[in-house]
Amino acid sequence: MKQLGLLILMVLTLAVTGQEKSKEKKNNTMKFNELNNFEKSIIEGKGTERPFTGIYYKHEEKGTYLCKKCNAPLYRSADKFDAHCGWPSFDDEIKGAVKRTTDADGRRTEITCAKCDAHLGHVFIGEGFTSKNTRHCVNSVSLNFLPEQKK
Ligand SMILES: [Zn+2]
Repeated sequence: MKQLGLLILMVLTLAVTGQEKSKEKKNNTMKFNELNNFEKSIIEGKGTERPFTGIYYKHEEKGTYLCKKCNAPLYRSADKFDAHCGWPSFDDEIKGAVKRTTDADGRRTEITCAKCDAHLGHVFIGEGFTSKNTRHCVNSVSLNFLPEQKK
């Protein structure tokens, strides 16, 4: 009888810890970085930061630009170029990371994080800045930067 009691206790303990683990996992996938009011106004309110004010406009370090809200990798520094427009510009995104949606007025194409829908900016085609003929015009405040690991 004593052994059976122990066995039941073990099974119960396993069941409870198993449940807690799956709960943890769920919370992690739903967790976003905390945003301040300015970040919220751009990322969730689809606003635009003033040109030439963002921290990544003249940023030339090698690395990866991540979504400010969910940390998804969005752009590589190798695809960044200076369009003299006042916002960080990229002529390519990390495959599948950026979603395109036509604005309500049908004129511009909004770009958002494919993972969490954070507003990034707009994409323009056919301006001839680079050979890819594409300019992702991105708010610095929508991004975080991860420097390339030095070997
Ligand atoms: Zn995101």
